[in-house]
Amino acid sequence: MILALVGCSHSPRPLPGPGLAPQPEGVTPTPEELRRDLIVFASDSFRGRETGTPDERRAAHFLVARLTELQLLPAGDSGFYQRVPLLRQSFGAGTRFEVSMQGRTVPLPLGDALLPITRLGPGTPSPRRAADGALVFAGYGVQAAGKADALDALPVTGNVGGVVNGAPPDVDATQRAELESASAIGPRVQRLAARRPAAIVVLLSGASAPLYATLRTDLTRSLTGADRMRAAAPADSQQLGPMILLGLATPGSPLLPAGWPANSQPRLMAGRQFHARVDLSFSPVTSYNVVAVVRGRDSALADSYVAFGAHYDHIGIQPAQNGDSIANGADDDGSGSVALLALARAFSQARRPRRSVLFVWHVGEEKGLLGSDYFTNHPPMPIDSIVAELNADMIGRNAPDSLYVVGPMAAPDGQSRVLGIVLDSVNATLPQPFSFNRTWDSPTHPERIYYRSDHYNYARKGIPVLFLTTGLHEDYHRVTDEAWKIDYVKLAHVDELMFRLGEAIANRDTRPR
Ligand SMILES: [Zn+2]
Repeated sequence: MILALVGCSHSPRPLPGPGLAPQPEGVTPTPEELRRDLIVFASDSFRGRETGTPDERRAAHFLVARLTELQLLPAGDSGFYQRVPLLRQSFGAGTRFEVSMQGRTVPLPLGDALLPITRLGPGTPSPRRAADGALVFAGYGVQAAGKADALDALPVTGNVGGVVNGAPPDVDATQRAELESASAIGPRVQRLAARRPAAIVVLLSGASAPLYATLRTDLTRSLTGADRMRAAAPADSQQLGPMILLGLATPGSPLLPAGWPANSQPRLMAGRQFHARVDLSFSPVTSYNVVAVVRGRDSALADSYVAFGAHYDHIGIQPAQNGDSIANGADDDGSGSVALLALARAFSQARRPRRSVLFVWHVGEEKGLLGSDYFTNHPPMPIDSIVAELNADMIGRNAPDSLYVVGPMAAPDGQSRVLGIVLDSVNATLPQPFSFNRTWDSPTHPERIYYRSDHYNYARKGIPVLFLTTGLHEDYHRVTDEAWKIDYVKLAHVDELMFRLGEAIANRDTRPR
């Protein structure tokens, strides 16, 4: 379906602009090449491509071997590799959590009882590492309509707020699902954080409880950017946010009122003091972005770039599910990684566009957009020579013609608006255009998709971005995200759209702003 689409004599629509000149047959990405690459890239031998492990190196090597074969131009600092200095975080012996009550101290062991969240999303202050205060129980942390806010009467500020991520016994199934979901955690934390407590403890219950085991596996696998660490100033406690901890809501826990769940009224838990210290140490790790260029043909424009991005890392080994412990990341983001390889192949064989085309396979996306953070702060070309960034993350699943577009409305100051218009016009020329889903194209959508992949770091530098994704599914971040579940015809279709879009932008006289 995707071969030789352009230049078809029966094409009913005119092709816009010089970007869509006829290409040699067979140039556009094919389902066969995508399948061939992804079956290897998402195989068990890559062990889930976790950043900071030898599996990351094997995955990077796979990409570099292919780029070498295709004779692309290396644009890293060591051939195709760009070194990304990271720090591995570990918890020291000084880490402790305890509740003192009735003259005794109840320890809450790291991992078994509580998990500290040590990094939050971009733009959120770092959590503090020491917190002491009275325990204030906030119940289910939801505001009943028409009633006074129970938190108003409680001394949350400077103390420790505990909240259950769950539902009271008397709600219906729909409400229950909402109140117990993982996406209910953020709003609960924000509601307490607004009252400036020293710490927030979120106790998972019901449907969100299994999340604890998943997050627990991440406890010792946390990485952070070496630059970012230097930039943070932990000494300046004014800049720090509350300590944030996760635990499980277990009846009898010293963090819950006696008699919970029957007894779940918000209250100050008289006589209970919470004490917490998080002692972190860091050791250096070098990871690698993979960076390549196809040089543009127009000498006046070839020093400007249309960037394609994907992330080649995934989440590695996870708790076993039916005997399988490898999170293959076929869709996340094996699909984007092999799509970029096919684009690199296509652009190197096609008539060269006027601008240059930049390909970046980012590392450390799953650890907090670390590779794109480093790349955009240490780009091998001036950052403002990148005229647009097109990010593909999870593009091989769900209904054949559905595709989410994020950027035109979500990015600040309308910086991606023109890119959205170009996308729409290119899509209209496809024999089977996608029906775009724009529900996530908002900076305030509760799923926060705009902040959840590498394009965000480019957008922060003022670069127009488009994030393309076929969306979430039941295998998201599970060991079942496997290559046989990918719709390769769809993946090729998305990849063709990206190819046409990249050409259109690269051949425009003006930047898409
Ligand atoms: Zn992911």
